[in-house]
Amino acid sequence: MCYRKETTVQISADETMCPVCRNRLAFDRILHHMICAYVGPSSDFVETADGYVCPKCRRSIASGDPACEVVGTSARCSTCGKEMIVSPVAGAI
Ligand SMILES: [Zn+2]
Ligand SMILES: [Zn+2]
Repeated sequence: MCYRKETTVQISADETMCPVCRNRLAFDRILHHMICAYVGPSSDFVETADGYVCPKCRRSIASGDPACEVVGTSARCSTCGKEMIVSPVAGAI
């Protein structure tokens, strides 16, 4: 299958099971690097001893860096490979 679905499935924050195959989901934070406008899961950022390195602009991001914000959470099913966006919970970060 080389076909990629355009629509992203949204799940609510309390769901922990894949809506497709009912297996456990792996969650990841979606980060926004304001300096270069990169948005991606935290797994795209290279972890270093004192934070992260942005995969787009290669600048280092210290932990708690105000130039980097958490914009959401994504979930991925390791069994069927389905990716989902977790609906933001009011009042979170
Ligand atoms: Zn960047
Ligand atoms: Zn699944």
